[in-house]
Formats: sequence, structure tokens, C-alpha cells
Amino acid sequence: MTRKVIIDDNIEIGEGSFTIIAGPCAIESKEQMETIGSFLNKLGIKILRAGAFKPRTNPNSFQGLGIEGLKILNDIKEKYDFKVISEIMDPRDIEEAYQYIDIFQIGSRNMQNFSLLKEMGKLNKPVLLKRGMSATIKEWIMAAEYIRVEGNEDIILCERGIRTFENYTRNTLDLMSIPIIKLETDYPIIVDPSHGTGRRELVTPASKAAKALEADGIIVEVHPDPEKALSDGFQSLNFDEFIELFNILTIE
Ligand code: PEP
Ligand code: MN
Repeated sequence: MTRKVIIDDNIEIGEGSFTIIAGPCAIESKEQMETIGSFLNKLGIKILRAGAFKPRTNPNSFQGLGIEGLKILNDIKEKYDFKVISEIMDPRDIEEAYQYIDIFQIGSRNMQNFSLLKEMGKLNKPVLLKRGMSATIKEWIMAAEYIRVEGNEDIILCERGIRTFENYTRNTLDLMSIPIIKLETDYPIIVDPSHGTGRRELVTPASKAAKALEADGIIVEVHPDPEKALSDGFQSLNFDEFIELFNILTIE
């Protein structure tokens, strides 16, 4: 039986429900977040994703707005009553970010950053642990254990694809990790069809597969104007595409 993770006493992930988490790759501006927040709120989305600290491959690429971005995210959270999920890369940012983030995201590149994981274990807020892009399922479960042994059991795993020889997709979405995690652990597991495929047109089939395999939800990138997004526009859905996906997943 999957344990459920309760966010802020009133929103649950796990135990038979399918949670749709959505939002942009990165917080870019107040206007962008207002447009996205108002759109997702109308659809009844309860958990908003958006990165303030972006782990970019190229140090010259947009790195995120940092704490200023989290303040923008917080304004939108309060206005529409969202729970928010955002990535932390550096333990030194935890203290200031704590007041703004409901679910701490540990990104793929930091899955085995053991000092960061230990700090996550001391928090009393849920942690979304993304699978390392070169991590085995066993290594991923052991990374969760680093958090759990410090006392924090509110862990949600996220399958976001792994590196293989296949390069048609950005990553190879390892869908079998869903039933394996269910067999081996009691953590909820969600799927990231955006990073898992890296292609907008594959986000819907990947999401349908995640639901069919009884994942506990998805986390999907949405942007009002993906062509102009400062990161990951090629894999972000525009609003019409997101509505279509939302209808497929919510209307039986
Ligand atoms: C993200 O979700 O914004 C992200 C950077 O994902 P990942 O860590 O899976 O690459
Ligand atoms: Mn992204």
C-alpha cells in the first residue's frame, strides 16, 4: 500500500488518487506567473511547480531568479491558494526558501548529493526526489533512504527518465520504475513526462501511460508562450495543449 503524503494538512498525494502538478520550468516574471497561476487555478490545479534555482547545463544560460523568484511564486500561491513545489540545489538556500516552498524538489542532478539529502531529512515539509538521470532504481531508493533516516518520511519519488543510447527523446522514460517502486517501497511515485521525453508531442502519451500504470500523478511543464520560454520551451505545453491533456486524464 502506498503511503500518502499530506501537504500542509489538506492536499494529499498517493493512495489511489492521480495528482496533476503543473507549471513552468522556471519562474521568469510576475506577469508570466500571474498568467499561468490564473489559468491553472481555473482548471482546479492545486499544486504549482516552478523553478527559482535552475540547474542548467550551460552556466551562461538563464539560471533562475533565485529568492526573488520564490517571492513571486509566493504571491501567486497566496492569491490562488496553491501549494508550490520548487527545487533547491544548495543547502545554504534552505533556510530562506523554507517559508516559500511547500514541497522541496531535489533535481535529477542532485539525487546523490548526500549532504543536501540529509538536510532534506531534517525538514518537516515533503520532498520530491527526482530520479538521477544515470541512477538505478536501487540507488534512487537508497537516496530516499538518506532523507528518511534523518526523520522525514514525507517523500514522493519522481521518474523523469534516464540516459540511454536512444536520443530520439531527451531521456528514456523508464515506465517500469512505477510498478517496481510500488513493489519495493511505499512511497508515492509521480512521472515527469516533460523531462522524461523532452518533446511536447510526447507529453500526452507519456502521461496516459503513467496513469495506466497507476502512478500517483504527473508533474508537467506548461508555459503561456513556449517558444519564448527562458528554459525547456520545446517540452512545455501551451495552454490549449494542457487543457487537452487535462481533459484526457480527468474525463474517463
Ligand atoms: C525540473 O524539474 O525543473 C528539472 C530541472 O528537472 P530534472 O531535475 O528532472 O532535470
Ligand atoms: Mn525544465
